[in-house]
Amino acid sequence: MDHIASLPIFVDDLFGELTEPIRIHATKEVVDLLERDVFNDNVYPRFAELRNQHGAVMQYMPFNVGEEFSVGHLRATAVKVNHIVPTIGLVLTDGKSTVAFSSDTAATDEFWTLINKAPQLDALFIEASFPNSMDELAKASKHLTPQTMAEELKKLSHNGIDILAVHLKPAYRTTLVDEIQALGIKGLSVMEAGRIYEW
Ligand SMILES: [Zn+2]
Repeated sequence: MDHIASLPIFVDDLFGELTEPIRIHATKEVVDLLERDVFNDNVYPRFAELRNQHGAVMQYMPFNVGEEFSVGHLRATAVKVNHIVPTIGLVLTDGKSTVAFSSDTAATDEFWTLINKAPQLDALFIEASFPNSMDELAKASKHLTPQTMAEELKKLSHNGIDILAVHLKPAYRTTLVDEIQALGIKGLSVMEAGRIYEW
């Protein structure tokens, strides 16, 4: 549920007003899961088959892992990461700035191979979900702690970029912020909700 968040409610709310469909970029595997478990006429309507007065309201845009695809004015490349449900990390560029998102993941190599290949990287968003004391739960749920995040960051070959820790479990935020700051890694900070970041 945290991966799709308010997507069904978003489509539902805008249903009557949409003049073009909401496009859902996802792997085929995830599209199949959305159709099986969410937009299945039990939990939510099969919005991909419904139309309002302007036409379709929701459209799947499947992409292949490892192949560049377009999202609006951005170009994106996805790679599978190491999580308990099918999850991808992303590199996104507008041709001027490039950023990478780890998404939810435990230790992985493919993501680092992808982002190290990018000719230029301005920012990296990496998860740090649980405090160091909860390493066992982090491993079981395939997430990182500040400690394991620091291990992962050793695989990064770009220098001088902004590294933003995200996906801090709210209940442990204070501890996580302390542990992330204590790492003393150059360019690393905790991403702040409501702040606008530009690269
Ligand atoms: Zn997750």
